[in-house]
Amino acid sequence: MTDANDKTRFNTEARPNWCPGCGNFGIQASIKKALLALDLQPHEVAMASGIGCSSKIAHWINIYGIHGLHGRPLPLAAGIKLANHKMAVIAEGGDGDGYSEGMGHFIHAARRNVDMTYIVHNNGVFALTTGQASTTGRQTRVTISTPHGAIEPPFSPTALAIVAGATFVARGFSGDTDQLADLVAEAIRHHGFALVDVMQVCVSYNPERSYKWYQERVYKLDSQGYDPSDRDKALALGLDTGEERLATGVLYRTERPAYEDKLQQLQEAPLAERDISRIDVSNLMEALI
Ligand code: SF4
Repeated sequence: MTDANDKTRFNTEARPNWCPGCGNFGIQASIKKALLALDLQPHEVAMASGIGCSSKIAHWINIYGIHGLHGRPLPLAAGIKLANHKMAVIAEGGDGDGYSEGMGHFIHAARRNVDMTYIVHNNGVFALTTGQASTTGRQTRVTISTPHGAIEPPFSPTALAIVAGATFVARGFSGDTDQLADLVAEAIRHHGFALVDVMQVCVSYNPERSYKWYQERVYKLDSQGYDPSDRDKALALGLDTGEERLATGVLYRTERPAYEDKLQQLQEAPLAERDISRIDVSNLMEALI
């Protein structure tokens, strides 16, 4: 039984096996800090992750977790939310997982506005498989999958999330855990689909984007009187992939009903709390045969 006031309640006995210096450590610390700040308990939070270095995080935070298939954390997270919409639900993965493999799920989760927080460890490579180029990597960059330099330009996940219908879009940096913890807490508090795109340092397969490289470019929007309800400005920031300056903070925030708010079946109580023993599904099963 976990002590409700124990500040170490989200720690696990197992330790991450990420490379020393990996930005995933900062993201993990930020999530735990955010959960403590929100005064959540381990049994109130569930995480679904995909495949990749980052996705192993589901093993190393003491909450409910499922480590799923490549590119599929979002449908898992949506299923958890529909089964028990009282839970705080987090989907987690890397850019290779969510912005390459799982792109279709990303668009539709944002469009549906499922109430969940999607944290993407965006390091510009498929790191677990030794550094192939991903959709957010720099054009012309040489990797083992692009020996003559990447031909394709990177795309903007934050701009796509806004266009697809996400109601909260933020960008953080794995080297600023205080700000990132605040962003994760805001995202969990937000009612609707919340993306936190995290610029994550991969010291092994993308060393050119080091902590120093980011520190020379990142700046905070909240210190500039920025208005996150301005969709055009948020899109412009998202589309600016020029790498000269990188805005962090809440890029965009709006409100509209979440997907589960509109499901009549969930109005009475979470499905997980209802007695389903008397529901007759034989007609449905017969129709499926
Ligand atoms: Fe982190 Fe990169 Fe090492 Fe993976 S390969 S654990 S992303 S530093």
